[in-house]
Parts: sequence; C-alpha cells; structure tokens
Amino acid sequence: MQDKAVAKLIAAEEKRQLEGLELIPSENYVSREVLDAMGSVFTNKYSEGFPGKRYYGGQVNTDAVEQLAIDRAKALFRSDHANVQPHSGAPANEAVYHAWLEPGDTIMGMELSHGGHLTHGRPGTISAKLFNFVRYGIKDLETGEIDYQLMREVALRTKPKIILAGFSSYPRELNYAKFAEIGQEVGAVLMADMAHIAGLIAGGVLNNPFDFGFHVMTTTTHKTLRGPRGAMILSQGKVGNPLKAPDKIIENLPTLIDRTVFPGLQGGPHMHIIAAKAVALYEAAQPEYKLYCKQVLANAKTLSEELMHQGFKLVTNGTDNHMMLVDIQSTFGFDGSVAEETLDRIGLTLNKNVIPDDPLPPYRPSGIRLGTPAITTRGLKEEHMVQIAAWITRALKSHNDENELEKLSKEVKTFATAFPLPG
Ligand SMILES: *Cc1c(COP(=O)(O)O)cnc(C)c1O
Repeated sequence: MQDKAVAKLIAAEEKRQLEGLELIPSENYVSREVLDAMGSVFTNKYSEGFPGKRYYGGQVNTDAVEQLAIDRAKALFRSDHANVQPHSGAPANEAVYHAWLEPGDTIMGMELSHGGHLTHGRPGTISAKLFNFVRYGIKDLETGEIDYQLMREVALRTKPKIILAGFSSYPRELNYAKFAEIGQEVGAVLMADMAHIAGLIAGGVLNNPFDFGFHVMTTTTHKTLRGPRGAMILSQGKVGNPLKAPDKIIENLPTLIDRTVFPGLQGGPHMHIIAAKAVALYEAAQPEYKLYCKQVLANAKTLSEELMHQGFKLVTNGTDNHMMLVDIQSTFGFDGSVAEETLDRIGLTLNKNVIPDDPLPPYRPSGIRLGTPAITTRGLKEEHMVQIAAWITRALKSHNDENELEKLSKEVKTFATAFPLPG
C-alpha cells in the first residue's frame, strides 16, 4: 500500500484484534469470503432502484447479486419480502417508522434502560423528535419478565401504530405471542428489531417473531449474523399490492418499505456490501452455522454461571441468549466505566452499560455488558469461559495493582494469539 499511514493503522488494528478477546456482544469476526466481497469492484457501481428497475445502465451483475441476497434473506427468515439496502441498523428502523407513520404518531418500545436501543426513541434522536414513544418494561428484575399486563393497558390507552419488540441489552427471550395478542387488539403493526439476535434466529436457536404473526423485522447484518456492517428489512405481504386502509394493514407494507428506503431515505445502494450480505446469508444457511449458534448460547450460559459463581450480580440472574449484563456497582462498589477500562488493559474488550433503572448516569453507569458471538467465532468453548470468568474476577479485584494487571495482560495475550482471526 502506498499510503503508509493507513496501512500501519490496519496492521495495528489486526494485531489488537488478534491479541485480545472481543466480548462486546454486538461484534463479530467475518470470514475471508465476506471480506473479499466487501473489497470487490462492486464498490464502483451506482445502482439506484431495485433489481430489474434501475436508474443507471450496466446492472447485469448488480441485479443478480442483489437478487441473491434478497432470496437468501427471505428463505433464511421465512419472510415474503426483503430489502437488503439499508446502510445500517439505525436507518433501517427509521425507514420502517417512516413507511408506516406520520409525524406525531405513537410507537410503543422497550424502556431504554431496560434494554431498548437508541433508535427506539432516545431523546435527541430524529425519531424521538418526530414520533411519540410510549414504553413497556421489565416487571421482575430477578427474572427479566416483561410486564405484559401494563403493556396492554398502555397500548389500549395510547393506541400505538407500531409495537416494537427488540433490544440491545436484554438477556432474556421476549414472549412474541403476547406482543402479537396486544398488537392485534389495538391494530398496531408488529415490528421486531432483531439486530442483536438475528443470527441466532437464523440458526434456529432462538424464536422467530414471524412465527407469531409479526409483520416486519429489521436487523443489522454485522452482529450475530456475521456479515458486513449494514442492515436489512424483512416483511410479510406482497410488493405492488394496492394501498389498503390501515385496519386491513400490512398487505402493502413491503411496497411502502421499498419506497421509503429508496428514494425516501437513501440514494444508491452499497453494492459491495450487498454482495457481502449475500455471502454472509449463504454462510448462515450452512449446517456449521447452526453449530456455531448452539455454541454461542452454551458459552454464554457457562460464562454467566461462572461469573455468578464468582459472586457477580447478573441482571435477571442469567441469560437465555448471547449476552449478559453485570451489575458492577453492587458487586464491587465502583462503576462500569472503571471495569471497562481495567479489562481493556488486560485485553478483554467489553462495554460499560446502564442497568434497569440505573441510579448512575449513562456515561458512568452501574453495569457492563458482555457476550459470546465473537469469541465463539474464534473457536472458544465452555472450558475457556471458565478461564475468562477467572481473569475478569482477578482483574477487577486488583484493579489498582499494576503488577497483577500486567501479568494478566500477558496471560490473555498468550492465550488469544493461539486462536487465529478468521479471515
Ligand atoms: C445495533 C442495533 C441497532 C443499530 O445498528 P447500527 O448499525 O449501529 O445503526 C438498532 N437496533 C438494535 C436493537 C441494535 O442492537
């Protein structure tokens, strides 16, 4: 590479990824084939429109590759329609809101400190300025169960046009059947934001909201799904159906979504990323991927049990998925940002996170969030989770002891370099 400055940074980042263990639950390592597709000549092409209906010439290969991504996404998630063009998870959610709503309409989403994502109406976001968000949340912090009775009462009172199931920091399964029951009662579109867990749904180890009557699902493609940074919108209904009255809902939802993504929100799709999405969707349909998903859950279960065994307080006392939330403040008497910095120094990367109804501010919250998708891709198994829990415990117990942290950092580095990066 001529550009020595960037070449040096890429090499340094590769080294950092190799020598540490990635515990951020929204991250993963992609395959060589996904990297190659992202680095391909498809990046040179403008393809505004959709396969067969473009505004530029020269689309013979782009049409075919986008159609492949669409067909694979539909088959994997059992949906009638897929739009694979959203640049990332946030604009995918934005597109669904704008496809179905007018400014001032109401969306019901998860309480943010209970696990809801920023795009589910955090004050200051564009959607929070345009739409009215109402909330559901956890009833019992010891089990993580959602308060469905209160959810129904609020829904009947506020008549949301979208009920949104989904989260970025919640370690339990949602009861999609209950969401569907309430959604049908109030005539809302049922939307699932499965950004974190779409891969686990594709791999068959977590429930698919479409099996419970959901109308639309958004997901990122770079988290458990192990593809390029980007997103997709899957929906039920047929493109081209005439617009219908809201009480008949949904038949026309795919058309509205396509129009809202392009030209509503985006210009030309990123065809190199779409090619890489197609590759990731191919990989996610292989038998090895199912085994990977099973191992992600098995690793999360072991890691959470080991941490609890070491005396850590876990939010909801465990996990059903790939992630866990640890209440650092009540375990150690310091906040999650101290834990994040300490563990970063020994090569364990994770993030500070609010816990439900956190008394501390988001920048120095009580908790940390960690998960197993990336380390499972690296090839780690249950016995390694026991080791990681022990490192975390030792580091946090001696977070002021330079010598001990130095020693731990060497141990982690030696261990991690024995597990090469995929790709
Ligand atoms: C990660 C995430 C998003 C946003 O994805 P970006 O690609 O970062 O824009 C949206 N919703 C949920 C639930 C997420 O976890």
